[in-house]
Amino acid sequence: MDLETLRQKALACQECSLRQGARKVVFGEGNPRAGLMLVGEGPGAREDELGRPFVGPAGELLDRILVAAGFKREELYITNVVKCRPPGNRQPVPAEVQACRPILEAQIKLIKPKIIVCLGAVATQTLIAPGASITRLRGRWIARDGIRYLPTFHPAALLRDAAKKRPVWEDFKSLRDVYRALQAEQLSLEFEE
Ligand code: URA
Repeated sequence: MDLETLRQKALACQECSLRQGARKVVFGEGNPRAGLMLVGEGPGAREDELGRPFVGPAGELLDRILVAAGFKREELYITNVVKCRPPGNRQPVPAEVQACRPILEAQIKLIKPKIIVCLGAVATQTLIAPGASITRLRGRWIARDGIRYLPTFHPAALLRDAAKKRPVWEDFKSLRDVYRALQAEQLSLEFEE
């Protein structure tokens, strides 16, 4: 299956009741061959309107962090744990996360990122460890199945609590360093071939 076929599958999905309350399915976007994938929680109001991830206030902050850390949004792939907006921006419940999980897992298999940044507790608990505390895990690199995971606070949390900005900035600096090192390694491998 390719990414477009998976997207069509997601658009037609009725595996949970979130689809009925959502205007658009927010599948994800970016470079289909990205080495770096960012995973948020689920679409908010603006994302639901436009069908694109991280385009509301949290997305604007995320864009600023990405630029400051030297990333271009187009070089990454950005998606969420659930693809349809939970009503009133509540957290997705476990059954909704489970219903959407095969789509996220298929995205990861197709894109094959080297690094996945888990933005917030829901992404961290879904991809790294159920029940994990984001406060305890943030900033710690976790390697699994050939992918390096980095949990950090969700940008929406920074909008509520400015004290989280500093640790998130530290995490993105660490991300930049690891990502650039992996890119350099990849380049030197290509030259050695
Ligand atoms: N919050 C998320 O987790 N994802 C989005 O796409 C927007 C806000």
